[in-house]
Amino acid sequence: MRLYAAFLSIAVSAALLVLPGSAAAEPAEPPQPAVRDFGNGPERNEVAAGAAEGQRAETLRRAPETTGSYGLSRDRGYLRQVQLPPPAENPADASIKLGLVPYHAIAPKLNDLQRRSDRVSVEIIGRSHQGRDLYLVTLTAPESRGEAGEQSVIRDRIENDPAGAARDRRLAARYKAPVFVNANIHGNEWEGTDAALRTIEELATSTDPQVADLMKRTRLYFNVTANPDGRVNGTRANGAGFDMNRDFITASQPEVRAMRQVMIDTQPVAMIDLHGYVNGTLIEPTTPPHGANYEYDLFIKNTYANGLGMEAAVNGLGYTPAKDGVHPVQIPFRDSDEGWDDWPPIFTPQYAPFHGTVASHTVEIPLRVNNADYNLPVEELRRRSAINTDVAAATIRATYGFVHSKHDQLIADQIEVFRRGAAGEPSKVVPLGIVPGFGPEDVYTTTFPRAYVITGQRSATAAARLVDHLIANDVRVERAKRSFRLNGKTYPAGSYVVDMRQPKRGLANVMLEPGEDISHRVDAMYDISGWSHALLWGATVDSVASGPLHVSSEPVKAAAPTGSVPRTPGSLALKVTDAKEVQALNDLLAQGVAVTWTNDGSAIVPAAARQAAATVSDRYGVAFTRAGSAPGTPLSQVRIAAAASADELFTLREMGFAVTPVSTAVLNAGFDWSGTDVLYVSSGLSHAALNPAARTALDAYLATGGVITRGGTGATFNAAAGLLTATAVAGRGDANGVVRVTSSSGPVGGGSPEHSFVYSPRWFTALGAEVTVEQSYATDGPLVSGHWRADDKGMGGPEAARGQAAVVSGRDERGAAVVLFGTEPMFRNHPKGLFPQVARALYWSAAVTGATVTTP
Ligand SMILES: [Zn+2]
Repeated sequence: MRLYAAFLSIAVSAALLVLPGSAAAEPAEPPQPAVRDFGNGPERNEVAAGAAEGQRAETLRRAPETTGSYGLSRDRGYLRQVQLPPPAENPADASIKLGLVPYHAIAPKLNDLQRRSDRVSVEIIGRSHQGRDLYLVTLTAPESRGEAGEQSVIRDRIENDPAGAARDRRLAARYKAPVFVNANIHGNEWEGTDAALRTIEELATSTDPQVADLMKRTRLYFNVTANPDGRVNGTRANGAGFDMNRDFITASQPEVRAMRQVMIDTQPVAMIDLHGYVNGTLIEPTTPPHGANYEYDLFIKNTYANGLGMEAAVNGLGYTPAKDGVHPVQIPFRDSDEGWDDWPPIFTPQYAPFHGTVASHTVEIPLRVNNADYNLPVEELRRRSAINTDVAAATIRATYGFVHSKHDQLIADQIEVFRRGAAGEPSKVVPLGIVPGFGPEDVYTTTFPRAYVITGQRSATAAARLVDHLIANDVRVERAKRSFRLNGKTYPAGSYVVDMRQPKRGLANVMLEPGEDISHRVDAMYDISGWSHALLWGATVDSVASGPLHVSSEPVKAAAPTGSVPRTPGSLALKVTDAKEVQALNDLLAQGVAVTWTNDGSAIVPAAARQAAATVSDRYGVAFTRAGSAPGTPLSQVRIAAAASADELFTLREMGFAVTPVSTAVLNAGFDWSGTDVLYVSSGLSHAALNPAARTALDAYLATGGVITRGGTGATFNAAAGLLTATAVAGRGDANGVVRVTSSSGPVGGGSPEHSFVYSPRWFTALGAEVTVEQSYATDGPLVSGHWRADDKGMGGPEAARGQAAVVSGRDERGAAVVLFGTEPMFRNHPKGLFPQVARALYWSAAVTGATVTTP
């Protein structure tokens, strides 16, 4: 489920846990200010330690950013049957207890259905973090190669020539409307998978002429389980500990990249994402705030209509509160004021509309069977799971029925989404009352710029990463063949241009705009409110508001290479301002290259290691320069003990650091500190809860090792361990977004972008003489985009943070080099441009701790 901020204050809402016979339960409580700390809460931390510990090797085997070898075939007809290799039987699969299909039984089941029907095709579209196959089932009437080719041509035309497609009155009659059913993205919300399999079987074997017509008029795509790791393990997250229904703008996980590619390749007009558990069944559309980059008039019209249809189908199953403990359907848009919004495009149904989906829904089936309820008696669990499967199947049935009956209109509306984008029409103000209840509080608009220009001014490596990410999201990017002037500025040849007159301009804009401060518009947000690839990914991105766009350019399929090594001999410098540079440096350190670290945040590579430098330059796309004469401190591989959340562990390892997860329990069990250079603390470690032996061992470590902390847990640890003299002040717990910062030229702040990201922000006051301010919140108000208010007493808001220290460094009495972060530089692997701050903190801490150098 999407944990309902308005409904929840802790992990599980008692109000929504309706047991059979408890007739008095309410379907929804009035929204309250969110107090849940999504960024740093214990739930996130617990997922972290457990998931990460067993997965170290697998993290290293991440699939590449491109989906290259997967993706759907374009030049084959249907059927496209493959004999799926059945996984080994796993009696520990968490689905079994619920009477549901375990992961290992899905492939045999699909193989059987492929044998029995000429409507069922299965393709493997990727692998999970732990290496399990992801299955995409396509249900449709058989197509010759020519017929399938025609479908591809029409689909391309809808996206790439939408004005022509809109004029073609024969198009809809020839086109099979694509529908996408995404199941089980949260691994411990199981029944979407079982409902999908049931639906596939019913439709595959039906002799009903209506079904035959449906198969001729649609293609139904089922991602049977989006999260096989979580299905087997009984976890919300995948094997890497990531909540994948928060990952769509970042796409850090292979499962998410597979889903993204399905949406790009199939261009669904409608989709549902099957979750649990909210009683009564929750069906979107959502409350405000509404994402401003959608064509919302088209979206709300269809999404509400299908929502009502699903409601009727679910309520029509006949389950009752008294008899079954099943409450009537709730639709947040209609039934709640706020707290279940479609503002951030991090969720599947909030990402799909950018690829033309005009009816897009989260569905939360009713009866809880996960977490604490997983321990209920088996008969009760199976009773609940059977009902949940019925409910999920009803929503699938309603959705394909909706598409079947509104076939031509949905296709026309998808065409209109792309047509407006390609024409560069202004954002449409949705008329009030377009659907019942659509009021001024629902109106969100944006102003699309004429173009964005992405340059390597700050970091060519970061610009290349951003360009490749946009392309992977099917956003069109061009490269300038010659230098050009735009908006009074001259750009060099090779600069990248995103012409906003393009079909998927909404997706381009939602990533490249700075975002909006929506603190004043709503009381409570469901999840994050701020993100920005332009401000947080380290590239230089200029917005060009209007005017003619005369640039001689060519389309880009991949960013140009960015690696280089100067021709002149001598030692080489690598400035660490991008995560790729961190990877390159860690690669050199792993090879045993004698690197030194300078306090301006650069690594110096000796002339003798020139060949190794050239190799990593090419491998990671990083640019070496000639080294000056700055003295450095010897640097070797940084070995980290980390009490951190899953996203932080993932990000540190992605940068090539050697990380050993620790926690209070691990230290209390007797931890060998001899292999640790730096301790990283952000969650799961309480100094107060350490036993005497663990404290003694920690004290001994602190005489020789460095410490980096983040957030509240980190600040508490700093105080308890007597490291730096600083008082940590907490901002409001649910505050999050992009903030303006000022950085020093210190070992951590130097080279930082002008923006950072916060979730539950903190700042540091009463600083001791040994403390250096590395980064401060902007004095003219830090929040750029997101949601950050003062609390009820007027405390903890962005006003209070003005000019305050956000990141500090210093050496404590014992000589340990310590850095405290009040920001969230590795949040969900998103703010790529902030990762190197953490790396610089680690290098600096490892290099100078115990060394007899003078620190700044
Ligand atoms: Zn869910």
